Amino acid sequence: MPIVRITYSHQYHRATAHNWGCNMRCRGCSYLLKEPPRPAVTPSLAEVKAALASIDGCQAVHFMGGEPTLNKQLPELLRFAKRELGLTTKLGHTNGWNLITEDLDGTNVTLKAWDDELHREYTGLPAQRIRDNFVAAFEAGLDMRASSVLIPGYIDLDQLEPIVAFIAGLSPEIPFHLMGFIPVPGAPWPRPTEDEMAAAVALCRRYLTTVGSSHLTPAQLLDHEARDDRFIVRQVL
Ligand code: SF4
Repeated sequence: MPIVRITYSHQYHRATAHNWGCNMRCRGCSYLLKEPPRPAVTPSLAEVKAALASIDGCQAVHFMGGEPTLNKQLPELLRFAKRELGLTTKLGHTNGWNLITEDLDGTNVTLKAWDDELHREYTGLPAQRIRDNFVAAFEAGLDMRASSVLIPGYIDLDQLEPIVAFIAGLSPEIPFHLMGFIPVPGAPWPRPTEDEMAAAVALCRRYLTTVGSSHLTPAQLLDHEARDDRFIVRQVL
């Protein structure tokens, strides 16, 4: 599961290492809209390190997916980035299946569903290990963030409420982001309505102090440079 490219946001002084592949099979995965094919040739560890070291002014590196923890190079890249380059290190998104804390400053874990049976149906994997890893990462002192996807009628408020209560049980100040489901090929559910999103955000805010949300259409997701300056980047590798 290799890193396939590195981008850099001059505005945020942040590099992002993009990993290919995932161990879950989420039925609503947004990569079903846009995931590029796995490249035939991928950069070596030395090439990834050289690319990160070449960026003037870089202050942080985020590792993203697919699922970034599947990359066997990750522990060494975190060590290199943190100890040799002095960068802040984060998992920009992870499904939480693997626990990594060494040389890592922060992580953003997506909690897919609360009920184990539903979690297995939606992702192919059980839920409890992810929550155990979330607790362990929090207790290790990482800067924690979390997110979930609202799929009305499927992964709905009955799933969301125990998720945000669980997070609040660790700290109500852990930032949480709620994403409205973006319809993808083969998934039967519609986007949430504005009212459904508002009710879900209000529920989250009963438990947590910092709650953001996004409610994109498929077209907006595919054009996020126009909507979000974090995606205005140049390709480094
Ligand atoms: S964990 Fe994320 S990248 Fe992996 S299948 Fe699920 S939504 Fe897609």
